[in-house]
Amino acid sequence: MGHRIGRGSGRRPGRPVLPSVRGAVPRAAELFGRVLGGAPDAVFSAPGRVNLIGEHTDYNQGLVLPFAIDARAQVAVRARDDGRLRVVSGQQPGETVEVNLDGLEPGAVTGWAGYVAGAAWALAERGHRAAGADLALDSTVPVGAGLSSSAAVECSTALALATLAGDRLAPEELARVAQLDENRFVGVPCGLMDQMASSASRAGTVLFFDVGADRTEHIPFDPATAGLVTLLVDTRAHHSLADGQYARRRATCEAAAETLGVDSLSRIAPGELDAALAGLGDDETRRRVRHVVTENERVRAVVELLRTGAVRDIGPAMVASHASLRDDFEVSCAELDVAVDAALAAGAAGARMTGGGFGGSVIALVDRDRVDEVGAAVTGAFARAGFTAPVLRLVSPADGAGADG
Ligand code: ADP
Ligand code: MG
Repeated sequence: MGHRIGRGSGRRPGRPVLPSVRGAVPRAAELFGRVLGGAPDAVFSAPGRVNLIGEHTDYNQGLVLPFAIDARAQVAVRARDDGRLRVVSGQQPGETVEVNLDGLEPGAVTGWAGYVAGAAWALAERGHRAAGADLALDSTVPVGAGLSSSAAVECSTALALATLAGDRLAPEELARVAQLDENRFVGVPCGLMDQMASSASRAGTVLFFDVGADRTEHIPFDPATAGLVTLLVDTRAHHSLADGQYARRRATCEAAAETLGVDSLSRIAPGELDAALAGLGDDETRRRVRHVVTENERVRAVVELLRTGAVRDIGPAMVASHASLRDDFEVSCAELDVAVDAALAAGAAGARMTGGGFGGSVIALVDRDRVDEVGAAVTGAFARAGFTAPVLRLVSPADGAGADG
């Protein structure tokens, strides 16, 4: 039995005893003193995120609805006057990476330190200042669980370096710097959702981000008042086909938009979908397009429900989103499907894969007093299927990037 669901006799009924990610605290300042010596000038942090709904829509200029979670990457920073970066990470023990910022170009720093050095490069590239610094990074965002540990590193580092240089970046600009870091310096062709969520989120809300309109809005999201919790199931599956398939989905969407004569698939209104599908030659492309158009519509519907406080009622849209990602966009996998099916069978109000797919996490909306049953059902289903035991966490919407202490 991998993950134990608490059923202790002293437990108050209805109180979930699953670990919350809030339990873990990053300790960048301590790491800084221990490895780099002395004290940092300042400490900053940025969170990981989950996406409530709106998947594979960001790079189609569509709608997404992520929120920051209470797991964060923290960066302790001290200025240097020699134009160099010296970087350590609590998750990469024993390694200190030194980089000269002068003439820094993509490709010069690979591996994990590329995310950090790339933040300095991307700041300069977008016309901001970035000076040399000592940086100690410590993060409680698990890597590769679909919670965007990369955006947390990028946003916290870019914020630290910009602030040290005397720049104040708006959250939207910080997100764009972080995305440029990941796209061009690290070389991952991600959309803007992860960085925007890590940078601009506010506690107690989900971030309604209309990528095409470049507009964000904070929508109250309060499952607790409705007697619900958001349960994350990290399937611990990280399928190697994820990167290549992501690029293929993007290319298919862009080619379909061109065939249909629109800037992006998100320009297609739901009422125009049938006509658009009729204009496409093959069934696979039709299904990809149908996912994007219907997913945008589901985001809109969920936002309207949340505006009225009807949190429980978003469940069916989550379920429909998962089905669309599984059948039309084909980015799910056996682990994600088993987690969603088991959660729903055990009474979850809604459940779907979250993040790019082919592994990573499922987000489920669950009655507070049923969370143990749902967790046990998922863990049991994984055991029966012969999968690695999942990791279960409760998450709630947290603040985006900022100064710590
Ligand atoms: P995720 O879905 O978690 O964002 P990615 O593959 O996009 O997965 O990013 C994970 C990568 O980000 C790691 O392999 C590592 O290079 C970098 N990274 C994330 N967290 C840390 C950390 N605490 N210290 C060093 N590098 C990190
Ligand atoms: Mg990432």
